[in-house]
Amino acid sequence: MRWSDRQQAMLREMGLRLWAPADAPMAEHPAADAVVAPAMATPVAATPAPALTLQAPVPGGASPVATMDWPALRDAVAGCRACGLCDSRRHTVFGVGHPRAHLMVVGEAPGEQEDQRGEPFVGAAGQLLDRMLAALGLTRDEAPPERQVFIANTLKCRPPHNRNPSAEELATCQPFLERQVALVQPRVILAMGAFAVRSLLGSDAPIGRLRGQVHHWRGVPLVVTYHPAYLLRQPADKARAWDDLCLAASCLDAQTLPAPAPARA
Ligand code: URA
Repeated sequence: MRWSDRQQAMLREMGLRLWAPADAPMAEHPAADAVVAPAMATPVAATPAPALTLQAPVPGGASPVATMDWPALRDAVAGCRACGLCDSRRHTVFGVGHPRAHLMVVGEAPGEQEDQRGEPFVGAAGQLLDRMLAALGLTRDEAPPERQVFIANTLKCRPPHNRNPSAEELATCQPFLERQVALVQPRVILAMGAFAVRSLLGSDAPIGRLRGQVHHWRGVPLVVTYHPAYLLRQPADKARAWDDLCLAASCLDAQTLPAPAPARA
């Protein structure tokens, strides 16, 4: 089977170039024989940081965060001092995108550039993420909810020196992410990397074991894939990430198909 134009466009956007011997057909599964070349970076726009107030989530309990609307949630994140990360952050990173996006993307934690700008995924990994989304016809920029995604992180503050989030930090920040998902009500969640998976699925299993199937978070279909920063280090796995994106896209498509007509007696 040959790849569709859409699939080939996605591979190009992700920086994948595929070569096959002149007399051999293209492989059906790109992971089997993909040869990978880096793609060009594209810049993204900044958003202003929100104003500061003082509110914090209550991990594991009846959190006031669980009933907040968007403005209250933004204020709570901006003023959060629930863990030590507030001492070293420059900006909290709330998230960007459509408040009722069909696809919600969840990453790990802000890095240096995100901390500086108050926007998720603006560094090299974010540029790869933007290209992956563009290949699916999706964007973080203003568009209808079927095209504009919502991008959030498990942590809203940068861990110093980009160290891994601690279990306590993840638990403390979890109510914010949960409330974001509850407000967005996405049709599909794309969990990128180990920490998004740990937060949303409570699993420490390797991404390689969890990807390729549809999980659920409180009834919402959830697809697991590699973190874009990992893909920058391990470009050979971009082909698998492409499969994951196709799986997420097919979940979205399945939910926009008209329901089958009820059988007549
Ligand atoms: N990596 C993430 O997981 N999130 C960001 O916002 C930036 C890099």
